[in-house]
Amino acid sequence: MQTYDVIIAGGSYAGLSAAMALGRARRQVLIVDSGKPCNRQTPHSHNFLTQDGATPAAIAAAAKAQVLQYPSVRFQEGTITGATPTTESFTVTTAAGEQFAAKRLLFATGVKDEMPAIKGFAECWGISALHCPYCHGYEIKDTPTGILANGDGAFEYAKMIRNWTNQLTIFTNGPSTLTAEQLGKLQKHRIAVDEKEITEIKQAGGQISELLFKDGSTQALNALYHKPAFRQHCNVPEALGCELTPEGYLVVNEFQASTVTGVYAAGDATNPFRSVAISVAAGTLAGAMISRELIISEFE
Ligand SMILES: Cc1cc2nc3c(=O)[nH]c(=O)nc-3n(C[C@H](O)[C@H](O)[C@H](O)COP(=O)(O)OP(=O)(O)OC[C@H]3O[C@@H](n4cnc5c(N)ncnc54)[C@H](O)[C@@H]3O)c2cc1C
Repeated sequence: MQTYDVIIAGGSYAGLSAAMALGRARRQVLIVDSGKPCNRQTPHSHNFLTQDGATPAAIAAAAKAQVLQYPSVRFQEGTITGATPTTESFTVTTAAGEQFAAKRLLFATGVKDEMPAIKGFAECWGISALHCPYCHGYEIKDTPTGILANGDGAFEYAKMIRNWTNQLTIFTNGPSTLTAEQLGKLQKHRIAVDEKEITEIKQAGGQISELLFKDGSTQALNALYHKPAFRQHCNVPEALGCELTPEGYLVVNEFQASTVTGVYAAGDATNPFRSVAISVAAGTLAGAMISRELIISEFE
């Protein structure tokens, strides 16, 4: 069985950044990636220095090309389906039935967003149905914008999004759970609340044109913010015993180490601040900390 210093599950922004640090530290690294980054449907990625407005795929391709210049790093397409701790290492299994061993594991496997059951939403995800104003708010500023949410979440979201547009409506998609105080504040800032049930998002090529309601009425819209439910993209860390936060993120310490010795995690899988820059930073830290641990253990 081929043995590596580190196997990285997930070869997107966090995983590739870790691989660069490890490659530069002359470590034998295998990256296994299933090719489904969470932002793959978004046409342009923003708010990452030197790459503002580039496509997600272009950023990843440039990163991969740079990382693979380090001869000790190998990239393989595939899905890691299992990992078993052995005395001094881990044995990793892929969906294709291959097995590899490594002294340390890093999960940079991200999260999987679960689309709300509204016709048209999935097509718009990342194009005009958006989660983050820092990623996409500037491009849709001052346009008719909706927030699909209810209660405290909707109130907090509206407070933020108002910075980018004052043509804002909260769509609760059923009875509102906003408090009277919240409704008063929203009214003060001219943020409308619409409780009608949404049956469909009318769109072309992912660009929203209007919402269609159960009562037959419609509302023209340019963009819709929503924070979808999510789950871990890969359940191998949980199977290894890695703890999750109550929100569903992998617990890591300040060095990106999970709660299982020898297992690290970085990127969206570990925190709610979803951004390419933050994932790159976490991957860089994880790579350096894994390398440091290996260097120290070999100095004994
Ligand atoms: C629609 C959308 C638009 C966004 N727009 C922006 C933006 O404009 N600017 C910005 O800064 N951020 C943006 N983000 C956030 C950004 O995309 C994420 O923070 C970033 O992709 C997280 O990087 P990651 O490496 O942790 O995970 P991901 O990029 O999600 O990559 C995880 C990788 O792991 C792989 N994987 C999963 N399970 C396995 C397994 N078992 N075995 C092998 N491989 C596996 C996946 O296939 C994938 O390639 C956006 C997010 C979304 C959802």
